[in-house]
Amino acid sequence: MKVRLFEIFTSVEGEGILYGTKTLFVRLAGCPFTCFYCDTKESLPLDSGTEYSIEDANHLIDSNLKNQTYKVNFTGGDPLIQHEAVALLAKHIQDKKIPTYLESSCFDIDRFNHVLPFIDIVKIEFKTKDSDFVDAKHYEKFIGHTMKCLQSSVKSNKTTYIKVVVSSKTQLNEFAKLVQEIFDKISKDDIDGFIIQPTYGISEPSLELLLELYDLVYPHYIDVKVVPQLHKFIGAP
Ligand code: SF4
Repeated sequence: MKVRLFEIFTSVEGEGILYGTKTLFVRLAGCPFTCFYCDTKESLPLDSGTEYSIEDANHLIDSNLKNQTYKVNFTGGDPLIQHEAVALLAKHIQDKKIPTYLESSCFDIDRFNHVLPFIDIVKIEFKTKDSDFVDAKHYEKFIGHTMKCLQSSVKSNKTTYIKVVVSSKTQLNEFAKLVQEIFDKISKDDIDGFIIQPTYGISEPSLELLLELYDLVYPHYIDVKVVPQLHKFIGAP
């Protein structure tokens, strides 16, 4: 089996509940989606990056592991595009007793479940309709998959948190509907965080809008946080 890797680097987490913590990032090539705020556009083509055998990719990852590597984050692109390869790479890391982390839009429950046994920390990213992730016709189908991935991660007792990127285009009624659907399916005690992440440099939401979005989550989950992308402020990749 082959895998296309876009880049490997050590940095600090710039997003989510683990922001500020040191991590080795393995960025997989390829993502077919079209979020207007995507900040990793270079890695979207399926033929971007470099192709490796799994063995060579494991060696490359090993050569980037340092004594102080606290976790390995599989990101993208969308890592689930190459789910079979990610499962093998993540197992290789877990065998070294290093925690593994998956960042994905969780667009396919079967691919997600294939990778899940080898992942310790899961970021479930829910896309809003106005993200342009997919066209309106296919939106509900994809969100259905994301919802199933959330339930699967919770059921498997993984460290699981939710992230939603919001912009000036985010509609309060659509966001409220999404939040209600999430907490109809899981309980507040099932997750380890709910992050509202404002877009940066494009269609940025106002503080007023962010506070309104916060207020929509708070009745369901009081630990909701608005967290901008930290790495953009410290010049990290
Ligand atoms: S799913 Fe992620 S990688 Fe793919 S286009 Fe959207 S933001 Fe970019």
